[in-house]
Amino acid sequence: MMHSFSQSLSKTLEADVVVVGSGLVGLSAAIAFAKLDKRVVLVDAKNPTIKLKKVWDERVYALTPATETWLKSIGVWAYIDTSRVNPINAMHLFDDASEQPLVLRDEDANLPKLGIIVENQNLMYALWQQLKALEANNAAVTVITDTPCQSLDNTQQQIVLSLANGKKIVAKLLVAADGVDSWVRKQINISVTKKDFKQTAIVANFLVEKSHQNIARQWFSPHNVLALLPLCDSVKAKLVSIVWSVSTDRAAELLAMSGEELAHNVHEHTHGILGELTHVGNAPSFVLHQQTALQLIAERVALIGDAAHQIHPMAGQGVNLGFRDVMQLASLATKLHSMHDIGDSSFLRQYERARKADIVTMNTLTSSLDWLFASESSMVRKMMLWGFGNMKKKTSVKKLLIQQVAT
Ligand SMILES: Cc1cc2nc3c(=O)[nH]c(=O)nc-3n(C[C@H](O)[C@H](O)[C@H](O)COP(=O)(O)OP(=O)(O)OC[C@H]3O[C@@H](n4cnc5c(N)ncnc54)[C@H](O)[C@@H]3O)c2cc1C
Repeated sequence: MMHSFSQSLSKTLEADVVVVGSGLVGLSAAIAFAKLDKRVVLVDAKNPTIKLKKVWDERVYALTPATETWLKSIGVWAYIDTSRVNPINAMHLFDDASEQPLVLRDEDANLPKLGIIVENQNLMYALWQQLKALEANNAAVTVITDTPCQSLDNTQQQIVLSLANGKKIVAKLLVAADGVDSWVRKQINISVTKKDFKQTAIVANFLVEKSHQNIARQWFSPHNVLALLPLCDSVKAKLVSIVWSVSTDRAAELLAMSGEELAHNVHEHTHGILGELTHVGNAPSFVLHQQTALQLIAERVALIGDAAHQIHPMAGQGVNLGFRDVMQLASLATKLHSMHDIGDSSFLRQYERARKADIVTMNTLTSSLDWLFASESSMVRKMMLWGFGNMKKKTSVKKLLIQQVAT
């Protein structure tokens, strides 16, 4: 289906940038480039749902203050239903050996908040609204959904992307935001390193008895990380969202349970910290991998978002990392002279160089935490618990931790 925001009947569309994938990251890339007056075509194999429903979405994200600021700067925040956004003022991290959590507070890092929790549907809706608004203000944006890609020819001169509906897009740059199984990445033969955590994450929402006090709580134990994220604390509803990462076998057990049994298990695991829990909605699950593309660029192509890197959700960083890819691309594009070719190799090399350290840091943070907490070695566990205990006391270490997850 072609919603053209700028409808075109011709078989070939010309663009500066073609973005493949209209997930959160691809949508934000289309907006960022349209705001820089680039001609943008956005393509997706599926048809998106662009509705904000009353029921709470089980897919929620922890977004950093820097991500929120950037989404404001590109006009997305104006369309967010802020009554459904909850601040995180503190994080309480529990291990399985002590009652007292490691407490990270916004004031430890002189921040007004550590982040926010926002639903997938709220964010998606806002991104689509901003894309439409840009088009209404004469930005050159064409959106083609429900149309798989068929072939890709990326040469030194140009990108030619052919779609299953017979259309061709000729562009200077292709931005691949087509997710973890990226079709584009396969076409350009970029391989990945992949780590199977042998874990599945279950997400679900619960009404709770006690106020969550805007605290994100997380329990770490071997092959088991449970996050209780603050979603809403109104007179009508006190709501939290869980992300429970467990071994594949344990996930199968939890997924076979009734809502009541699941609530009972969450209550036990969290030592009843928020009182009685009532499960609301569904409980979707996600198999967890860490996957990193060996290169972020090829001739006239840049990989962004999960197409470039997928990480464990325990640090709540995946989509933040993807948005930072877009921030980087847009910032480099802003510095280009208007006549400069946006798909040339010097531009792409700058992008790749600038993004490597952030991606390595996030990969290391999440996979080392998983390794440390899963370790069977008593020496490793002793060291970890010693480190955890010391971290509780040291403000400087806390500040460092906060910098990793909240900026
Ligand atoms: C349980 C869980 C909890 C998480 N929590 C957080 C969190 O709290 N904070 C955070 O920052 N991150 C979190 N993440 C990570 C976050 O969900 C992902 O990083 C993010 O959704 C990736 O977005 P994306 O746009 O790159 O890819 P996707 O959302 O996968 O979008 C890819 C798009 O490409 C399209 N597509 C696919 N193939 C093709 C093709 N051949 N042609 C055209 N289009 C195609 C798809 O239809 C889709 O629209 C979590 C992940 C999980 C699993």
